[in-house]
Amino acid sequence: MSISPEQEPKIIMLARVVLRVILCAVLSAPALAVGQDRLSIYTVNYPLQYFAQRIAAEHADVVFPAPADEDPAFWQPSVEIITGYQKADLILLNGANYAKWVNRVSLPRRTLVDTSAAFRDHYIHVKAGTTHSHGPGGEHSHTGIAFTTWLDFRQAAEQARAITGAMTRKQPALEVVFERNFAALEADLLDLDKQIQSIVANKTDLPLVASHPVYQYFQRRYGLNLQSVIWEPDEVSGEAQWAGLERTLKEHPASWMIWEGEPHPQSVKRLRGLGVGSIVFNPAGNRPEEGDFLTVMRQNVKHLQRVFK
Ligand SMILES: [Zn+2]
Repeated sequence: MSISPEQEPKIIMLARVVLRVILCAVLSAPALAVGQDRLSIYTVNYPLQYFAQRIAAEHADVVFPAPADEDPAFWQPSVEIITGYQKADLILLNGANYAKWVNRVSLPRRTLVDTSAAFRDHYIHVKAGTTHSHGPGGEHSHTGIAFTTWLDFRQAAEQARAITGAMTRKQPALEVVFERNFAALEADLLDLDKQIQSIVANKTDLPLVASHPVYQYFQRRYGLNLQSVIWEPDEVSGEAQWAGLERTLKEHPASWMIWEGEPHPQSVKRLRGLGVGSIVFNPAGNRPEEGDFLTVMRQNVKHLQRVFK
C-alpha cells in the first residue's frame, strides 16, 4: 500500500496526536500511582496506630477500628471490620498474645507484622489469675503472656522500629521519610524512658499497688516494687476485695495505688482512709478521650512524680 502526497501530512498529524496522548499518559502516571499507593494500615491497638501515623505522616491511612469503650486486648471485631483488616496493605499486631481474635480469623500472612517479635524472648509469662470482666467484652483473665509491652518505652521504640521496617518494605521510595519520622518518635519514647528512670531512681523499693495486672513490663523496666489487684476505675469494689487489699497492705505497705483510668471518687476516699493515695497511669491501649499517646504518657509521668517526690 502506498501513501499519496495529500495523505502524508494527515498521517503525520495523527501520529503526533497519538504520541502526545501516550506522553501525557506516561507523564501523569507517577502522580496517579502516588495517590493509589497511599498505604492502608490497620492496627490492633491505639499505641500502634499512633506510632504508625507518626512514621507514615500523610503517606498512609492508619485505621484502628475498635470502639472507645472496648479494651482492644479482649475485643472481638465484627465480620465487616474484619473485612477491613483483610483488605489492608499492612496489619500491625502487638504480639504477646494481644488481641486473640487475630488467631481465630484468616488474615493475609504477607500483610501481618508482629511488632514485638524482636523481643519475643523477653515476654513476661503470668501465672494463673482470676477470671473477671470489664467493659462489654465479657469474661477474661490475664493468665499467659503479659501484653502491655509498650509501657517499657524501650520496647515501644522497638515496636515503632518494626513498623518503620514494614512500611519501608511496602514503599522503599519513602524510606528516608519513614526513617526521619521514626527518629523523632523514638526520641520522644526514649525521653519518657529516661524521665521515668530518673523519677524512680533511689526509691524503687517503694511499695505500690496497681488497680489491674497490666503493668508487668513497666514494673520490670523501671524496677518497681508493685503488686496488682483486679479492680475497675469506674466501679467501687466489693467488701471482699477491700478485705483482700487490706491483707495485701499488711505485708506490702503501699501508700499509692496506680489506676488505669480516673478512679471512682468513693474508691479514692476510702483508700485515703487506709493511707493510700491514688494516681492515674493510663496505658492508653485504646485512644484517649483527650490528647494523644504522647500527651497522655507525659501526664502519666507527671502523676508518677507525685508518688516518688
Ligand atoms: Zn482485666
